[in-house]
Amino acid sequence: KLITFEGCEGAGKTTVIERVFEWLVSKGYKVMKTREPGGIEIAEQIRSVILDPGHVNMDSRTEALLYAAARRQHLIEKIMPALEEGHIVLCDRFIDSSLAYQGAARGIGMDQVLEINKFAIGPYMPTGTIYLDIKPEIGLQRIRQNDNREINRLDQEKMEFHEKVYNAYHELLEQYPERIHKINAENTLEQVIEETKQHVSNILLK
Ligand code: C5P
Ligand code: MG
Repeated sequence: KLITFEGCEGAGKTTVIERVFEWLVSKGYKVMKTREPGGIEIAEQIRSVILDPGHVNMDSRTEALLYAAARRQHLIEKIMPALEEGHIVLCDRFIDSSLAYQGAARGIGMDQVLEINKFAIGPYMPTGTIYLDIKPEIGLQRIRQNDNREINRLDQEKMEFHEKVYNAYHELLEQYPERIHKINAENTLEQVIEETKQHVSNILLK
């Protein structure tokens, strides 16, 4: 089972994954948690090309192709072997991030970005996806309180960019109602964790 976690900036994906991981381990499951680019050298190198602040002229489609390439390498080297060994894999961001960020926010079109990602991941669509729903201004406010360096990077995008990502996730919810589960991430952490556990339990029954 491949379970992915998605959401706008400051939604709390990393914290929620950590808690779900501990919970599943305590229940005796074999679990692996990872995040793109997964510490995979090739994928990390691709990612550093994307995030290099000197690369201001990077074309949106180039960016989308590089994310898809990094995703594939992470899938091949880390996710697929773990799945084959019977692990539940929890992944912080996956294909939906590309659909939202490159497809919608960068304006390439979600359908086009879906095509290149299908090429990259083949049949490895997530079994289920937890979408942590938070309005961008609230998520960015959270980051502003904890992480100055990160907020400088995020502030380089216009608010409109983050709104597009948010709206795209809502479109994806309509497109994949069976796969994607929305959780109100503006609630308290404990409420978010409880709801997430319920959805993860349902995904594991699939
Ligand atoms: O929130 P997290 O630390 O997982 O995200 C790292 C950053 O990478 C995001 O803030 C986002 O700007 C960027 N990103 C992106 N397109 C993706 C995945 C991540 O622009 N497909
Ligand atoms: Mg995170």
